[in-house]
Amino acid sequence: MNVEESGFIVPLTHLQRRPGNMWETELALRAPADMGVALAQVEPDSELVAEVRLESVLDGVLATASVHYQVIAECARCLEALEWGDSSEFVELFLYPETDSRGREIQGGDHEWVEGDSESVARFIENDSLDFEEVIRDAIVLDLPLKPLCDPDCQGLCATCGEKRDVGAHDHVVQDPRWAALESLREE
Ligand SMILES: [Zn+2]
Ligand SMILES: [Zn+2]
Repeated sequence: MNVEESGFIVPLTHLQRRPGNMWETELALRAPADMGVALAQVEPDSELVAEVRLESVLDGVLATASVHYQVIAECARCLEALEWGDSSEFVELFLYPETDSRGREIQGGDHEWVEGDSESVARFIENDSLDFEEVIRDAIVLDLPLKPLCDPDCQGLCATCGEKRDVGAHDHVVQDPRWAALESLREE
């Protein structure tokens, strides 16, 4: 696959620092190896595309994005390999860094910004750029299924033969010799 990689870090060179200004861009990214949950993950090294709209607001930059990616997973019941294309959306505010009296950037201070959720952490603009790796990762991980299924009615694996149990089509005679021995005992 030929991916013209743009990287997760977006410089704000094209966005004027005046509220209301807008800039749209598309990021072509290569998926890192560890983006996912136990049974589902973004296919490592696959192409991940993020359509991003950046908007200057009073104290920072508001990013609205739609991310498209390829998922590889395993059915939680029958372990069948699964694959599908998916997308996630997010809206994230990146704040301008606070500066002290000498104009130096202060990181990690107290902030007024609370996004409904008291646990949300403020993100900052660093070196006049936005780093999207963590936001994209968070958005995708939230959307991936914890228990992917090949089919909502998947019957899982047969405890006897280990084969996938298809609905209604798995009615085999138990061949285990220990059972045969028990059977013959019962007959005596
Ligand atoms: Zn299954
Ligand atoms: Zn079986």
